[in-house]
Amino acid sequence: MKPFAYVTAATADAARAAAAERGARFLAGGTTILDLMKLEIERPPVLVDINALPLTRIEPLPDGGVRVGALVRNSDMAAHPLVRDRYPLVTEAILAGASAQIRNMATTAGNLLQRTRCFYFRDTAAPCNKRAPGAGCAALDGYNRIHALLGTSDHCIATHPSDLAVALAALDAVVQVTGRHGARAIAFADFHLLPGDRPDRETSLGSDELITAVDLPPLSYAARSTFVKVRDRASFAFALAAAAVALDRAADGTIREARIALGGVATRPWRAHEAERALLGRPAEPSAWRAAAEAAFAAAVPRQHNAFKIELGKRTIVRALARAAALP
Ligand code: SF4
Repeated sequence: MKPFAYVTAATADAARAAAAERGARFLAGGTTILDLMKLEIERPPVLVDINALPLTRIEPLPDGGVRVGALVRNSDMAAHPLVRDRYPLVTEAILAGASAQIRNMATTAGNLLQRTRCFYFRDTAAPCNKRAPGAGCAALDGYNRIHALLGTSDHCIATHPSDLAVALAALDAVVQVTGRHGARAIAFADFHLLPGDRPDRETSLGSDELITAVDLPPLSYAARSTFVKVRDRASFAFALAAAAVALDRAADGTIREARIALGGVATRPWRAHEAERALLGRPAEPSAWRAAAEAAFAAAVPRQHNAFKIELGKRTIVRALARAAALP
């Protein structure tokens, strides 16, 4: 491993100052960055330990939402009554990810900043535009079974690995950050970037910015929500397909509003707006679930080894919607 400086910071300003050197990284749970440093995919000159920052609270917001501190551990977020009762899709998404040990270390902000699990990204012998811009993409004509169908480009087809981020996309969460010019809020839809011709740029976070919290907005029908994940193993595996859904039904049983976000099939946490629109005004029944699923994958671009994920993704949506509709 390349030598690096290790510093600790007790305030956000001190952390940002310590991380001013080009290539510096923040250390929270360390569940991604340390792995990547061992592989020499990440080679930061400075690692700024931010675990002493007071960003570990989960608290209600005056508008009925909930603010989750950037350093709240995933296990604590999943188990907190405000999250568990108001946003069950968030709790289910977290518990579907990683292992108990990793969830005990991983943080809210770190979860959003996970790097892809593309095999070639983690293999320094393979060309990868995300790791080395302009090098090429080994996955395009390689073994692309786990890769994306939605939001891809000719430069990168890697999936975003987070389950939590899929639930947050469905909720229209807001990422609170602080930087050289003060605090700002980033809508979740604007936080993760499409790969385009610069897949190395993954978020809209400025180089001087630090995430301080994630806000879960009030959403009355989020209590009727769920998260379904399909993977190769029953635990400790990344999604081949995942769906976070929430349903709001009118008194006559028709669907008044819906939220659907997908994981494992797209280059970023994927909000399926077309699928949501396909449900509006329809009775809550299997034909509606299937119509939403078809709409969600209408623009899918399969590669040699991942076409099976189109039907898998559709069935994942159908199962998630049926499960949400059956909730009391
Ligand atoms: Fe790299 Fe993206 Fe291609 Fe994977 S899919 S090799 S991360 S450029």
